[in-house]
Amino acid sequence: MSRVRDRLVDWIRRHGPIDVARFMGLCAALRGGYLERGAGPGAQGDFVTAPELSQIFGELIGLSFVAHWKAMGSPRAVRIAELGPGRGTLMADLWRALGTSAEMRAAVQSVELVELSPALRELQAERLAALPLRFRSAVEELPQDLPLFVIANEFFDALPIHQYLWIDGAWRERVVALGAEGKLAFALAPWPAPLPPPRDPSAALVRELSPAREALAAVLAERIVQSGGLALVIDYGEPELSGDTLQAVYRHRRVDPLERPGEADLSSLVDFGALARSAAAAGARVYGPLAQATLLERLGIRLRLARLVGEAGAERRQALVRGVERLLDPQAMGERFQALALVPPGAPPPPGFAAEERWR
Ligand code: SAH
Repeated sequence: MSRVRDRLVDWIRRHGPIDVARFMGLCAALRGGYLERGAGPGAQGDFVTAPELSQIFGELIGLSFVAHWKAMGSPRAVRIAELGPGRGTLMADLWRALGTSAEMRAAVQSVELVELSPALRELQAERLAALPLRFRSAVEELPQDLPLFVIANEFFDALPIHQYLWIDGAWRERVVALGAEGKLAFALAPWPAPLPPPRDPSAALVRELSPAREALAAVLAERIVQSGGLALVIDYGEPELSGDTLQAVYRHRRVDPLERPGEADLSSLVDFGALARSAAAAGARVYGPLAQATLLERLGIRLRLARLVGEAGAERRQALVRGVERLLDPQAMGERFQALALVPPGAPPPPGFAAEERWR
């Protein structure tokens, strides 16, 4: 029995069921929970992320930051930020690529890491010891004095969602309750949720909403509008969601979301339409969502791969090619992952995005 499970069961016994958003939040934040455990991405962790598959991922993001910085007229002082830096791999690769422009590297006043997990903070501090790091607990804490270049890869998917089921002509919120033998079990709130009815009542069975994600997109947009710069959000998701997309993974294996509370990584598909609307309403110019494969192709993934392969031995060559294949393969990450970019009004389109790919 995990400590988190005991706490949840105890709470629900005394106060009643909790909604899915609160369940996700508590699994992450409780003592002994997921953030404290700090497993996250990587071979030793629970799931694989793009930067853990290929160094080229972070490098191309770094190169796109350099290109956009130049398009902005090479401001003399800027800040870099990452939301949820995991093992620090993406930032290490990004930083190396920033080195292609000594001027931009010299302009970076700080590298801001938004991270809540103490275990991962320690790892990031160790791996990125040479960078001008500053740790933050929330996006609201990012300084607003200088242009910001923000990357968030697989960050939004971890923020809590609410789920609603369309049953007998009404939306009912999905909750976590106590089932047989006092085990955690999904149930429905006894009262209907005041949401507008689905456009197609025969198709829509589940609706997912995330005030937390939308609020974060708005804060990020406000920062970019105020300070200038660029924010890039990459995650698995779709322009419009349907169905139950909540998932739990534990040591690279899908598990029931209620099976290992606080031990398994909980996430769900990101509703890119909702993020884009929220960021645009906050004043940002929004581009995308664009398939990850398309963005990486345009940023020059094939050229970079050819260059690295040319320098590598046989074994490393294979690993390099395999990593890139998984990033681009539509069945793997290429199309299931999408990229959204935020810039201030009047700024040029971000590298890799065309003018007509502005979100309408
Ligand atoms: N970007 C990395 C890691 C993705 S995993 C990569 O691509 O490999 C998600 C990261 O977000 C982890 O570092 C996790 O600890 C962090 N995280 C999750 N929820 C968070 C929150 N609410 N606030 C800050 N960090 C959070």
